This record gives sequence, C-alpha cells and structure tokens, in this order.
Amino acid sequence: MAILQADGLTYIYGKNTPYQKEAVTNVNLKIEKPCLAALIGHTGSGKSTLVQMLNGLIKPTSGKVFLNGKDIWEDEDNIRQIRFKVGIVFQYPEYQLFEDTVEKDIAFGPKNLGLNDEEIKRRVLWASETVGLNKELLAKSPFDLSGGEKRRAAIAGVLAMQPEVLILDEPTAGLDPKGRDNLLKQIVKYQKENNKTVIIVSHSMEDVAKIADEVFVMYNGQLEMSGTTKEVFSNSEKLENMSLSVPQITKLMKKIKNSGFDIDDNILTVDEAVKALLKLKDGAK
Ligand code: ADP
Repeated sequence: MAILQADGLTYIYGKNTPYQKEAVTNVNLKIEKPCLAALIGHTGSGKSTLVQMLNGLIKPTSGKVFLNGKDIWEDEDNIRQIRFKVGIVFQYPEYQLFEDTVEKDIAFGPKNLGLNDEEIKRRVLWASETVGLNKELLAKSPFDLSGGEKRRAAIAGVLAMQPEVLILDEPTAGLDPKGRDNLLKQIVKYQKENNKTVIIVSHSMEDVAKIADEVFVMYNGQLEMSGTTKEVFSNSEKLENMSLSVPQITKLMKKIKNSGFDIDDNILTVDEAVKALLKLKDGAK
C-alpha cells in the first residue's frame, strides 16, 4: 500500500466565477516507501496548490488523496487530523512564530494534539535537536533568534507533531549558503534516521540534485515528469524547455562528454564529478 497517493487531482480556484482558474489538472502520483522527494516546477505551475490538497487544507475539485490507503476526505469531520499527519512548513515559516518563548512556539502543535506535559517536553527537545537548534535558545523570545535559527524553530514546531509525511515549501529560501547546507543536511538526517517521507518543494536544482531520491516535475498544472533524481535530471532538454535548468555540474560533465571524452555524463553532484574525472584520468594512464 502506498504511503501517499493522488488519483486524478484537479483544482479550480473561483469555480463558476469570471476569475476561474484551473491550477492543477489530473495529477496522479504515488509515494510507495519512505523517501526524500522533491517537487519542482516554475512559479505558477501548481506546486503549492498540489501540496495543500495532499494535506487536506483544500479539497480537490475532483480526484482523491489516499494516506496509507485511506481516502483523506472520507470522514470530513476528521480532516484536521490529516493536517497533523501530513505536516506542511510553508515558505518563510518564521513569520508564524508568535509565542513569547521558542519552547512555547515548538510546543504549540503537540499541545493542540492533546498530549501530556511530559510528552510535549520530550517532543520539543527531540524536534529542536533534530533541526540543530541549541537547547539554550528554547527560553528565548523567537524574535531574538537569527534568521536561520527562526527557520529551524518554525520547522521544529511542525516536526514536534511527528507527521507521517513532512512537506517543506522552499525550506532554504533566503538563507545564506552555510545556513542552507546545514539545514539540508539536517533534513536528510531526519529523513534517514526516522525513515519518514519528506517532500521538498524547491526552485533550487542544485539542492534537489544533492538530496532528493525521487523528483516530481509540475508544468502548467500537470505532473509532467517523475522518477528517480537521476532519471529526471537525465532529461536536461525537457527540463530546460520547462524553464528548469539542470545543475551546473551536470551541464559541465555533459560538455566534457560531448567533446569526446568517455565519461559518465549523468552526474548530479561535485563529488560524483570528481570520482568520474579521476576514473577517466586512471583509464588514460
Ligand atoms: P506554484 O506553487 O507552483 O507557484 P500555485 O499553486 O501557487 O503554483 O499556483 C498555480 C496557479 O493557480 C497560478 O496560475 C496561480 O496564479 C493560481 N492561483 C494560486 N492561488 C490562487 C488563488 N487563491 N486564487 C486564484 N488563483 C490562484
């Protein structure tokens, strides 16, 4: 049974009004086992509408979402539970921090789940550690934190609800390169150690190439491509036609191959490129 499955999802904003807009058209997707998936596509391609359907924030105009085989809208009164099970961290989530301490902010979700104080405390500590947030910061006001720390605190608040599926919308937007790399590392570590499903919505092909196992590509409201990261990025022409470029290192390796060198050109990261180049060098000896 798939963890998350979308069958024929369509979403129309402002149906039967002059502003009617079909944002998502007949999307079918399946995540069979825990993985780090990336959802990519240019602005306006329907990513945000799609993820909001996946966690029951908006109801599909047509089509169904199944979480562990169960239609999430089957019991409409229980849709709030689904939003805890499929947690979304929206873009710039730090703007949603509002309590007087970081600890209270992270505890807000677990409190809403009705958990006891001891369990709440345990989850706050676990979530802050998971995102790499120093324990000493818990007593501070969220407004005294740095940009990167605020982002971590906001993500910890969703993690503390221990969702089965975690969706992160542009988690590294606006962070400096070091903060970005650190956060990506924590996300990968969380996914591997807990064997949970994480979906990252991202503009950054470099980030996606570095960390994703599976990639879903949205274009004009439709799921245009999906597959393993290698499979998807091997279609560089198709991606470029959708205004999505492949990582710089992939482009460079293709150029090297095209100039006559016998080298693996399906390369996604600098580490892989170094290995392939060393192999080429050893072969030439
Ligand atoms: P993305 O997340 O890929 O940028 P969105 O899902 O936000 O894409 O948007 C898909 C399409 O739906 C766009 O054309 C956008 O203008 C439109 N859209 C998004 N939100 C609304 C809304 N609340 N009302 C009307 N149209 C919307």
